[in-house]
Amino acid sequence: MTPHPAVALRTPDSQWTDPPRRALITGGAGFIGSHLAEALLAAGYEVLVIDDLSTGSIENIDHLKVYGGGPSDDGRFHYVIDSIMNVPILAELVDRCDVIFHLAAAVGVRLIVESPVRTIGTNIKGTEIVLEMADKKKKKVIIASTSEVYGKSSRVPFREDDDLVLGPTVKGRWSYACSKAVDEFLALAYWKEKKLPVVIVRLFNTVGPRQTGRYGMVLPTFVNQALSGRPITVFGDGRQSRSFTYVGDVVRALVKLAECGDAVGEVFNVGNGAEIAIEDLARMVKAKTGSRSAIVRIPYEKAYEEGFEDMPRRVPDIAKLKRYIGYEPRVQLEEMIEKVVEHFRTGGRPLPPERPVSATEPVSLHR
Ligand code: UDP
Repeated sequence: MTPHPAVALRTPDSQWTDPPRRALITGGAGFIGSHLAEALLAAGYEVLVIDDLSTGSIENIDHLKVYGGGPSDDGRFHYVIDSIMNVPILAELVDRCDVIFHLAAAVGVRLIVESPVRTIGTNIKGTEIVLEMADKKKKKVIIASTSEVYGKSSRVPFREDDDLVLGPTVKGRWSYACSKAVDEFLALAYWKEKKLPVVIVRLFNTVGPRQTGRYGMVLPTFVNQALSGRPITVFGDGRQSRSFTYVGDVVRALVKLAECGDAVGEVFNVGNGAEIAIEDLARMVKAKTGSRSAIVRIPYEKAYEEGFEDMPRRVPDIAKLKRYIGYEPRVQLEEMIEKVVEHFRTGGRPLPPERPVSATEPVSLHR
């Protein structure tokens, strides 16, 4: 890949000057983080990544090293393998950037159900440290939150000012939504009280190449199962639906939001309004891969834990995002599936069969 020339960037934010801007991505070797790094480099940014590789992977950013340190590149890509809990390292990186994309977080419903102590600690402490460091230097922070925060609200579609409807604390799933809601409160508090510029993005189910099914995400799981001829596992009755967004659309929105002065202090849904039932998704994956896999139903209590609560529908209202940055999703579901299938067919690493996530796995620091 040829490095892109650095380009001058003018933004609505008067505090930003050209060229090029420097972005720090926490969790930058994760699925979304690595796509974001790619998009920022292509737009002329200098990119710093911090990632502890607990769920991210060095392979996700291997192709970006062409932008970094060597004699034949333009020195715009740097990465540090470390935890965001390492305060001196994080402080140094914050010093060296203009904007922080905070994506490091525990990821995946299965991991959350199985390692709640680590999930809650990682999400809350990690964000607290990032905000504290950012505030010292008044660096803008884009906080990655999640559509999980809407919980089991029955509204369709979800709007940013809707009530959040969480289940009881004895049900582990809700700890994720709750920890992310605390992150949002904290970020908004920093904005209100200390004028730290923050933007909160609630990411809906994001899919694309490099996403692993290891932490329970449905599309890579289905594609892996279909390609390896194993049964495609639909949890519950399969009538629950999700709205999937292509990772390229998500990172484009994140970059634009970071450059939009009016977005500061605001919360945005980032998603794609098109909705599909999980059983129909299984059928689509089976058809797209030409697989002979059977589609099987697994009760939730077997898939996760006794009393697990799923949400029946989760659809974003993206009117606010359109209003602020003129956003339109470009990639629709069929193409998303094709891209994921192609990824696994051409070198993406399919999962070893039935690899369980145990409570002793390393802490996940990435979305
Ligand atoms: N799901 C499924 N089979 C799987 C993994 C997930 O049927 O192997 C379902 C899951 O129960 C949920 C939906 O697919 O209803 C999306 O799950 P995912 O973990 O990808 O994201 P969530 O929306 O739950 O955060």
